[in-house]
Amino acid sequence: MKSRKYDVVIVGGAVTGSSCAYFLTANPDFDGSVAIFEMDPSFSKSATALSSSSIRHQFSNAINVEISQFGTQFIRDFAERMQVEDSKPDLCFRENGYLFLAGTKRQEEILCANHQAQIACGADVVLMDKDELVRAFPHLNAEDVRLASYGRSGEGWFSNTGLMDGFRKKAREQGAEYVIDEVCAVHRKAHRIIGVSLAGGDTVECDFLINAAGTRSAGIAAMAGLELPVEPRKRTLFIFDCAESPQGTATVNGGQLPLMIDVSGAFCRPEGEHFMTGVSPGVDPVVDTDDFVPRYDEFEMIWEQLALRSKNFEAIKLVNVWAGHYDYNTLDQNAIVGPHSAVKNFLFASGFTGHGLQQSPAVGRALSEYVTYGEYRTLDLSELGYERVIRNEPFIEQAII
Ligand SMILES: Cc1cc2nc3c(=O)[nH]c(=O)nc-3n(C[C@H](O)[C@H](O)[C@H](O)COP(=O)(O)OP(=O)(O)OC[C@H]3O[C@@H](n4cnc5c(N)ncnc54)[C@H](O)[C@@H]3O)c2cc1C
Repeated sequence: MKSRKYDVVIVGGAVTGSSCAYFLTANPDFDGSVAIFEMDPSFSKSATALSSSSIRHQFSNAINVEISQFGTQFIRDFAERMQVEDSKPDLCFRENGYLFLAGTKRQEEILCANHQAQIACGADVVLMDKDELVRAFPHLNAEDVRLASYGRSGEGWFSNTGLMDGFRKKAREQGAEYVIDEVCAVHRKAHRIIGVSLAGGDTVECDFLINAAGTRSAGIAAMAGLELPVEPRKRTLFIFDCAESPQGTATVNGGQLPLMIDVSGAFCRPEGEHFMTGVSPGVDPVVDTDDFVPRYDEFEMIWEQLALRSKNFEAIKLVNVWAGHYDYNTLDQNAIVGPHSAVKNFLFASGFTGHGLQQSPAVGRALSEYVTYGEYRTLDLSELGYERVIRNEPFIEQAII
């Protein structure tokens, strides 16, 4: 059995872990060593690889808006920033916006309140009444729509694996060490994490541990005797072809359609020449970390809703389907980021509940600051801290998809 020592050990090498590794190794004030332990180099079951890969500024909490505003700028600059030798990773960012539809008075009130929070942060979001909505997106049936909210810039979708790979390659170039192995034990002495054991037999000492293990992050916390209210919840994504595609018919944004969140909760956005859709299930139990069987029955309901929303969605054909897992925070569906209140060198980075890809740049940057300076220096992510878990005080985000 070999024993090694790193300043920072990161459990999980997908987008969150790799962003942390990138920001740490990019910071000239950080001169420590970083190891990332990843048990599955194919990433085939990671949320990162199975994500719908979109970014929006339309949240209810200012901190989530600001996190994504940083994410947008980071994605725009990604190719230059992540250049390794001659390779500049293009994330194919489609900045086509999000369109939230409100059908009930309650939905309308939430949209209005969220709008105030968003514009206070400088987000480029406008509210549209029924007439404005149909003028902008003539393919939509707006009969039951009371209000819509449209992000004119900064929102859209991009390459998920491109984001992860870009972080990974740059972090590696900057000195981070990626190790294929499973963390199977976390060693704690009183209020400090002192290291981890690997399935391959090695033990590794560390000064900090970052828990970026996604849906398995509660298991990593438990290895240190800590509780984390995060569990895997299944989400199924469907790709469909459309006999008469409405793509190109918008009178805004060069005809490009946004990601629409219907009054029913189903979302739909262009994906190349096809469309992607999905919905939060009514019954949403914890699932086994290896259960990736898609919930085909959800498509019937979504299709019904989409066909009511647009005649163009009446004749559609399913061309692909897959399921992934949210790292679902059962307390408040918001990320849990930062140190444990008592075990301060155990840092959380999970519970993203469907928005971790867009949050990964800001979270990686914040944790690199915490490790290097003992405090957040740019965005203060304290509202997303672990304290609220101990106090059992949810920090509710109204705009969860
Ligand atoms: C269907 C779906 C749609 C989504 N849509 C969006 C979206 O539109 N926008 C958005 O921002 N987010 C979205 N998300 C959420 C986003 O994809 C995730 O929040 C994000 O990818 C989480 O990244 P992560 O690195 O924290 O976790 P993961 O990607 O799950 O990676 C965790 C990694 O840890 C590794 N690991 C676990 N345990 C161990 C161990 N003991 N030892 C070593 N390695 C370990 C795993 O192998 C895995 O590679 C979506 C998620 C899903 C499932």
